Amino acid sequence: MKTKASVLYEYKQPLVIEELDLDGPKQGEVLVEIKAAGLCHTDLSIMHGVYTVPPTPCVIGHEGAGIVREVGPGVEKFKVGDHVVGIWVPSCGQCYYCQRNQPYLCVQRDLTRAGTMLDGTTRLTKDGKPIYNMTGLGTFKQFTVVAQQSLLRIEDSIPFEVAALTGCGVITGVGAVLNTADVEPGSSVAVLGIGGVGVNVIQGAVLAAATKIIAIDLLDSKLEHAAKLGATHTINASKENAQEKVMEITGGIGVDYAFDVVGGSKGSEITLGLIRRGGNAVIIAVPSIEQKAVVPLTEFVITEKKLIGCYYGSSNLNSDMQTLLDLYKMGRLKVEELISDRYSLDDINQGFDDLIAGKNMRGVVIM
Ligand SMILES: [Zn+2]
Ligand SMILES: [Zn+2]
Repeated sequence: MKTKASVLYEYKQPLVIEELDLDGPKQGEVLVEIKAAGLCHTDLSIMHGVYTVPPTPCVIGHEGAGIVREVGPGVEKFKVGDHVVGIWVPSCGQCYYCQRNQPYLCVQRDLTRAGTMLDGTTRLTKDGKPIYNMTGLGTFKQFTVVAQQSLLRIEDSIPFEVAALTGCGVITGVGAVLNTADVEPGSSVAVLGIGGVGVNVIQGAVLAAATKIIAIDLLDSKLEHAAKLGATHTINASKENAQEKVMEITGGIGVDYAFDVVGGSKGSEITLGLIRRGGNAVIIAVPSIEQKAVVPLTEFVITEKKLIGCYYGSSNLNSDMQTLLDLYKMGRLKVEELISDRYSLDDINQGFDDLIAGKNMRGVVIM
């Protein structure tokens, strides 16, 4: 069959909207009609060549929800018509990590990160040449074929755009607080970078009953958004010294938990500087392979600070997704409120221009 798609041929160039050939689902695979797909900073990092997986040409997009249109042989978990959300780490349920309740570290993620199906081939081609998929999903197209391990069933009443965002930014941000850091009630929390994930760290801190929630960003518009979602203090780091201000708010002690959602060497160094003795700095933003942090090792011994990595919110993807969507239905987790702009697939490059300019809080492509 054919599918309309946006294709990344060259780094730092606009995506090309065109028709591709899509083979049907093979063993254990599912054909999904994508209904909504979120624009995320990680997509931008691939467009800009910061990460070079998957190889080009590829279809990016790793947040998406839609409807099952066909199932391949051996698929028992899904049937035609099911509503599903994509997860960007397939979880096989069998490997060392899946068996230990760490499905986000599943060994199969190495295969999908390389841009292919689990059997190492692609279902997507243009003039007979392979087109790769980001994280086994490639959601910026109308139809996609994915491994059944990369999908979760959602209730029909959940809007597709809500499920799409929950599948990345929400589960990562909230999970960083509830799973990775395990923030206790009454804690103080600082969040560096109020983007698509950072706002959900704020929401996670509210759910964890943190009592000081400090949002740090360079843009007032993002800080206002953070305050609406529950931040108790905001710091515009272009106008104020974030570390001094955090010390002032915490009576000179530092926060119990700081989350780096900016990334890079600077982000982790700043985050370590915000926490108290014995505090936890959590790195969520995915750095490029070259980025290194230079930190005094005494920080880890003399003051017993902890630097923790967080991937996919350390989530049990299946049960945590259900919990988050239940919290959304209860009104305790805002998801629609995170969406500022909706784009058609034809306008996807505009969406990324807006993301770069900091204009959209969260953009979604509606198919
Ligand atoms: Zn994302
Ligand atoms: Zn596994």
